[in-house]
Amino acid sequence: MSVHMVEARGVEKRIRQLDILKGIDFHVDRGEVVSLIGPSGSGKSTFLRCINHLTKISAGYLAVDGEAVGYRREGNKLYELSDAEIAINRASIGMVFQRFNLFGHMTALQNIIEGPVQVKREPAAQARERARQLLDRVGLAEKEGAYPSELSGGQQQRVAIARALAMQPKLMLFDEPTSALDPELVGEVLDVMKGLAADGMTMIVVTHEMGFAREICDRVAFMDDGRMVEVGPPAEVFGNPQSERARAFFARIL
Ligand code: ADP
Ligand code: MG
Repeated sequence: MSVHMVEARGVEKRIRQLDILKGIDFHVDRGEVVSLIGPSGSGKSTFLRCINHLTKISAGYLAVDGEAVGYRREGNKLYELSDAEIAINRASIGMVFQRFNLFGHMTALQNIIEGPVQVKREPAAQARERARQLLDRVGLAEKEGAYPSELSGGQQQRVAIARALAMQPKLMLFDEPTSALDPELVGEVLDVMKGLAADGMTMIVVTHEMGFAREICDRVAFMDDGRMVEVGPPAEVFGNPQSERARAFFARIL
């Protein structure tokens, strides 16, 4: 039986009496690239945070690579994972945020080897070698000694992607990775993401870049008000939206 990389069934999230996610049914297959789109406040970031063990779901079932997020199954019982176990699971999921979140006092190379060396206890020499390959892959081979303040937003975001990849994740989550960038820098980051998609990385991408969603993504998921309203191939969802909410949203942004 093939296991979905991400599987959500009836996922709910409440924060202080507020229903943020209202029953999400959704899955992502291995190697699939899915874009998550929808109005601000619809729950996209919250859903990514649930997948990445940054926050706990209130009800339903959520699994990454066949394992319930935050829980371990023994026989028929589920046990809550310890913080240490959660940290191990989180290490297998790469996350890239709108703000680059690089360590300002570390060079590009140091930023990239930090996780492998500190979390995975990899030998520094090995981590450095892979970091250089990753910098090359994101087109920044000459910038290994540069500090974040010496890099453009687009370059910082590419270092952030390399840093996430250094942990050899099985899944990459992107939360509006280009929203904070000047328009002329968006393309260089999307190009790196396209390369990842072509290499078979499983990706969930929250984005307003409809061109990227249309061109690169296998499926598009439209969220509104804590629900997954429409999911399907880009041509279907964009070309023939079934819901009034999706039609109204696309009319505003396309
Ligand atoms: P999106 O990423 O689609 O813009 P979010 O997941 O950030 O949406 O937020 C969904 C809703 O949940 C919003 O109404 C937001 O105000 C609310 N929300 C998110 N996080 C919290 C929190 N920690 N406390 C209270 N409300 C929250
Ligand atoms: Mg968000």
